[in-house]
Amino acid sequence: MNIFEQRESNVRSYCRNFPVLFHRAKGSLIYSESGEAYIDFLAGAGALNYGHNNDYIKQKVISYLEADAITHGLDFYTSAKEKFLSKFFETLLYPRGLDYRVQFCGPTGTNAVEAALKLARKIKKRPGIFSFMGGYHGMTLGSLSVSGNLEIKAGAFGTSNHVSFMPYPHGFMEKIDTIEFIEAVLNDVNSGIEKPAAIIFETVQAEGGVIVAPIEWMQKLRQLCDRHDILLICDDIQVGCGRTGSFFSFERANIIPDMVVLSKSISGYGFPMSLLLFKPELDVWEPGEHNGTFRGNQLAFIGAAAALEYREITNIEQEVKAKESFLRNFLIDKIASISDKVKIRGIGLIWGIDITDFGDNSLTKKIISRCFELGLIVERTGRNNTVIKILPPLTIEMSILEKGCFIIKQAFDECLTK
Ligand code: PMP
Repeated sequence: MNIFEQRESNVRSYCRNFPVLFHRAKGSLIYSESGEAYIDFLAGAGALNYGHNNDYIKQKVISYLEADAITHGLDFYTSAKEKFLSKFFETLLYPRGLDYRVQFCGPTGTNAVEAALKLARKIKKRPGIFSFMGGYHGMTLGSLSVSGNLEIKAGAFGTSNHVSFMPYPHGFMEKIDTIEFIEAVLNDVNSGIEKPAAIIFETVQAEGGVIVAPIEWMQKLRQLCDRHDILLICDDIQVGCGRTGSFFSFERANIIPDMVVLSKSISGYGFPMSLLLFKPELDVWEPGEHNGTFRGNQLAFIGAAAALEYREITNIEQEVKAKESFLRNFLIDKIASISDKVKIRGIGLIWGIDITDFGDNSLTKKIISRCFELGLIVERTGRNNTVIKILPPLTIEMSILEKGCFIIKQAFDECLTK
């Protein structure tokens, strides 16, 4: 580990909890150089919904590389981009009646969030953005400004100008009607908070601690935005691409956001790719007004088109439903039953085990370290990292999912009784 610890910046993070040298990975397993297999309940933080080195996607990528096709093309019209766009519209947007324009942004999720904020401000000619307490949208300055976690913002002094944080229906805030609160803020000429250009939200706050927004809440949020001429931006970076059961996580509320940001698993193979979708009338960009060298990675286009084909031939949504039902039952029966201080939340294949009520912020670290010793990679999330987040590939085999869950159970039994 020496070269990493001595030469890589102190900012490195995930590797600290899983300090082995990884070399190979297949499906829902990842192997260390010395050949140890680990079950992957982190899945590239949501970037590997189709598993590691998915064979179907891999073959398309290999053929593309072997043909000496374009690997870097700025935003040129390329056959790879054409393939992706055609597949994206034919298999996803048209069948859902979604009429969006697609903007290819810089490589990672936060780049699409930045584009969304900039475009919303340009359209509405207002600087304000409403975001939600507990929300997470990325680490570049604009995205950070709309993220709730004060620790990660602390060093970037003064990044939340023009951003107001509204309550998300969770914890104490669940006791109030948070939409009515926002309504009151907007209607009060003395609120001190100006009408924003947009409201950015997650349907499931993943980094916030796996907090699932109620359907009615999302519908009321949509209506509130319509009433007040505010754009609604859905950040589907972590829980889009099938994670909650449907491709877009907002489908379960039957709402249509004005803008959607997608990244992580959209490329299908762990390649960097991020997209901003918006209603056609919002396309007020001048050519080149939001430019960049790496907007639309060609291999990611190939991976993404293949992933959409893979979705068509595998009935992945049904699979997610079956695994969701197993996970929910397991977590309620085997983990929540350990103590009434354990809270379980989740949907699809994103689940959180919240142990905040034990009052020991180091407990989750002990549990995930024990899981790792037992052969499972699983991360922490939420306020003070007191929630264990289960985020396996959607393609995980049932037997491996079960095995990983039993490792969590063993780690809980051992760590909570010590
Ligand atoms: N939004 C959400 C909801 C996320 O979960 C993340 C990543 N965890 C981001 C934005 C930022 O994406 P990236 O790390 O690729 O910049």
